[in-house]
Amino acid sequence: MRKHLLAAILLVGWARQPALAQTTAKQFALSGVTLIDAQHIQPAYRQTVVINDGIIVRVFPDDAQSLPDSIPVLRLKGKFLLPGLIDTHVHLATEPSTTNDRVSTLSVLDRMLRSGITSVRDMAGDARTLAGLSRDALVGDITSPDIYFSALFAGPSFFKDPRSISSVMGGVSGYMPYMRAVTDTTNLPLAVAEAKGTGATGIKLYADLPAALVARIVGTAKEQGMLVWGHAWLNQARPSDLVKAGVSSISHALLLIRETRATIPPSWKRPRLDDQFLKDSLPDLSSLFQLMKKNNVLLDATMATYRQWAGQDTTMGFNYDLTKRCTKMAYLAGVKICAGTDDDQQGFVQNEMELLVHDAGLTTGDAIIAATLHGAEALGIEKTCGTIAPGKKANLMVLDKDPLGDIKNIRSVVLVIKAGKVYSSVL
Ligand SMILES: [Zn+2]
Repeated sequence: MRKHLLAAILLVGWARQPALAQTTAKQFALSGVTLIDAQHIQPAYRQTVVINDGIIVRVFPDDAQSLPDSIPVLRLKGKFLLPGLIDTHVHLATEPSTTNDRVSTLSVLDRMLRSGITSVRDMAGDARTLAGLSRDALVGDITSPDIYFSALFAGPSFFKDPRSISSVMGGVSGYMPYMRAVTDTTNLPLAVAEAKGTGATGIKLYADLPAALVARIVGTAKEQGMLVWGHAWLNQARPSDLVKAGVSSISHALLLIRETRATIPPSWKRPRLDDQFLKDSLPDLSSLFQLMKKNNVLLDATMATYRQWAGQDTTMGFNYDLTKRCTKMAYLAGVKICAGTDDDQQGFVQNEMELLVHDAGLTTGDAIIAATLHGAEALGIEKTCGTIAPGKKANLMVLDKDPLGDIKNIRSVVLVIKAGKVYSSVL
């Protein structure tokens, strides 16, 4: 703790240094900040936030109350205070011989946290690794966002996929508690209990599951207090089938067109689809969007991965054109968007936020909400994370420049706080 605080002192300077020396600094305050979160998209200026033992205990205008001398104060006049960011789609433990080896993963996690990301949701990988990393992040053994992860359920045909095989080394893909082939004869209460036993927060539904089985899985998961997160299309089930079944989020905006189309027509597969083409060609998805709104289902759009894909292979550019349009249509229809990258940590969630603003029409404020409150809702942690208020975890980021004025300022990180610990930025 002391080490992190020293970094903060060097960066911005503490007031009341003698008091700092007398305290364990479990309790400290930030003053002079402009507060921006889902409840303050009209920013609250010149605020003081008091943190005690990792929890925000008070928030008030600078002049409204005085603080006892025993509380060290980090003076941040002119800086911006936001909730820590949440990436709702990462993969940290899929292929241990390449980018997911331990050294690379720890380096990525360190950089993620110092960039302002305080929580991530891993959408399928080796749960044995993820459980260890999650525990180490929680207790502070590693410098990392908090890690929430999934157990994957899919139809038996999926488990020849090399990603599923590399995630279960020493075991058999399809027969692991976190990489499970499910059919109508599966003992679902046992499968869900075993998935929960891995430490997973949610079950991710993937390929080849029929709608009726999806509904049974979701019902069983809810009985056992697990969330269910869906790939938006499961070959045998449409996006609306997942939404009706009660999943809490669906991933990949591009797949929403599967609601009305079994395939993408060959004539669409060209490098650049212009706005007029998309306007004339894309199906009307308004009833799906209404259903998502009614059932409070979040869209994990994952624009970054499709953008990355288009950049690597220009013949795949149509995928990003469709993704942009589907995300924009969902946003304009009032569907809640969360910010997940799914690009193997090539760019962090700040990249997704920029794409949401520039390519899907989100306001800067709504992109901030996507990566904070909506991210917390996707992970089921909105009671403790995602906003700045008394009783919430002190997962925060301090910016030098206003992200509402320009979303790229989300990268102007001064320092990051997770569970009350202060970390220097990557700058
Ligand atoms: Zn993914």
